[in-house]
Amino acid sequence: MGFCFQIGQSPFAAGIYVCTKCGYELFSSRAKYEHSSPWPAFTETIHEDSVSKYEERPGALKVSCGKCGNGLGHEFLNDGSSLKFIPKGEGDSF
Ligand SMILES: [Zn+2]
Repeated sequence: MGFCFQIGQSPFAAGIYVCTKCGYELFSSRAKYEHSSPWPAFTETIHEDSVSKYEERPGALKVSCGKCGNGLGHEFLNDGSSLKFIPKGEGDSF
């Protein structure tokens, strides 16, 4: 599970992502990870209250800035359910 934001592709560079409206710190690039979608995805926020969420439809949360309510994107709860990660050494030898 992770955040998935429809804000276009961005490079994997060090830094933080802030709200475009109020400048509140939202995510660190350290929390960014490769995602099957073309959108940036993050595993955690900088502040616990960086974002607020509400269920827009089953399995999809609307994610907004925790400070000003600026719409940021969506978090999909069933994300990755068709994929299973097997750590090297625990599965069959590839
Ligand atoms: Zn904001």
